Amino acid sequence: MRVLLVEDDPTLSVGLKSDLQRAGFAVDVADNGVDGEFMGDEEPYDAVVLDLGLPDRPGLEVLRHWRERDNAVPVLILTARDAWHEKVDGFQAGADDYLGKPFHVEELIARLNALIRRRGGVASPRLKVGGLELDSDQQTVCDSSGQCFELTGTEFRLLRYFMLNPGKVLSKTRLTEHVYDYDSDKDSNVIEVYVKRLRQKLGKDIIQTRRGQGYVFEAER
Ligand code: CA
Repeated sequence: MRVLLVEDDPTLSVGLKSDLQRAGFAVDVADNGVDGEFMGDEEPYDAVVLDLGLPDRPGLEVLRHWRERDNAVPVLILTARDAWHEKVDGFQAGADDYLGKPFHVEELIARLNALIRRRGGVASPRLKVGGLELDSDQQTVCDSSGQCFELTGTEFRLLRYFMLNPGKVLSKTRLTEHVYDYDSDKDSNVIEVYVKRLRQKLGKDIIQTRRGQGYVFEAER
């Protein structure tokens, strides 16, 4: 899963970026409202963490612009503690959730995962699809025989994206966009390597190749 963090406090954003990466997200950072709005429109993020007090363009305006253009990316706003009116304004502008500063990063990660799961139509913290059970906290996957495997960060992000989109044909380009951050070398051939690794761990039938189109994670096997 790939998230955009729009936050102008450099200390906070550096810390959050590495915490989110450790939690299995690919993370891009914008430090002002204009860049943040542009990136949120250009790149297919799975969620956005949006500070409201931003230079160049306030967070609320960024959010309103996205919603006016039908950009429905899930957005969690960061509000000042006890500023109830910021929360109301945020929800009216189209926010999906909020967190008051200061906050614990564990709560931010839990809320982001919940937002992304709800968007994917999945209610449980453990993702169970196609005989597999993915554990976001441990970054492990268990098969129907109870055998569990550890996943690298990229393997985890790729498998989670497959499991949130079962039965859909996913192109290498789309997978690359959701698995890597902006700064990564987005060579879509790398996806082939990771699909091969997932097949080695979980069985070759887990992900089908559609020649010239991409891959399908099979929910029914
Ligand atoms: Ca700020």
